[in-house]
Amino acid sequence: MRLRNVTGSREVIADSRFVIHEPEKQKGKWNEIFEKDAPIHIEIGMGKGRFLMDLAAANPDIHYIGIEKYSTVLLRAIQKMEENELPNLRFIRMDAEDICEVFDKGEVARIYLNFSDPWPKDRHAKRRLPSRQFLARYNQILAADGRIEFKTDNTDLFDFALEEVGPAGWKIEAMTRDLHHDEKLSAGNIMTEYEEKFSSMGNPIYKYIIYR
Ligand code: SAM
Repeated sequence: MRLRNVTGSREVIADSRFVIHEPEKQKGKWNEIFEKDAPIHIEIGMGKGRFLMDLAAANPDIHYIGIEKYSTVLLRAIQKMEENELPNLRFIRMDAEDICEVFDKGEVARIYLNFSDPWPKDRHAKRRLPSRQFLARYNQILAADGRIEFKTDNTDLFDFALEEVGPAGWKIEAMTRDLHHDEKLSAGNIMTEYEEKFSSMGNPIYKYIIYR
């Protein structure tokens, strides 16, 4: 049996050319690392990176950056990139709380939040990635015509996220409580790892797209 070795994940990350190691130094000049200009789309809490790898393969003229807090999870994304390198995708290991240190005003064209951790306790609400505290951070880095796309199967988190939109100064462009049966929003949908897992269990998938 092949044992999974995640003990060396920090070392692998430190040596990986797919990871941007001092992301704050790229603030305002992210396109330099890709050597051409293109819109920058990011996924916050990308997990093992499957969604972004599929998007990056399908859209070579968009630059993708995946943000993940945990080394052991990011390691899986790096391993996938080693098997199938994509020139328009790079990763950052960081807590998204510091996102404004890393991207300049309006530098990001789209933000994806997929199956974000629910943080069910009320006192942890501000840690939820679609919270008004995070929306205020996204407001700084997102282009004026930018969009946030959020998917989850968690009813409480989705209801919470919807309640945060207005007070944070955002508007709903599109919304569904059953993405896979929504003719319009399901067109071109790319499944995430968690989406595949939860939809195969019969859970409906919720999605919103917001702008301001
Ligand atoms: N987006 C993937 C998907 O849909 O398959 C993974 C979803 S997983 C439930 C949530 C991921 O977000 C975890 O890998 C977690 O470590 C990461 N995450 C949660 N909070 C984060 C934060 N503040 N900054 C960066 N990553 C975070």
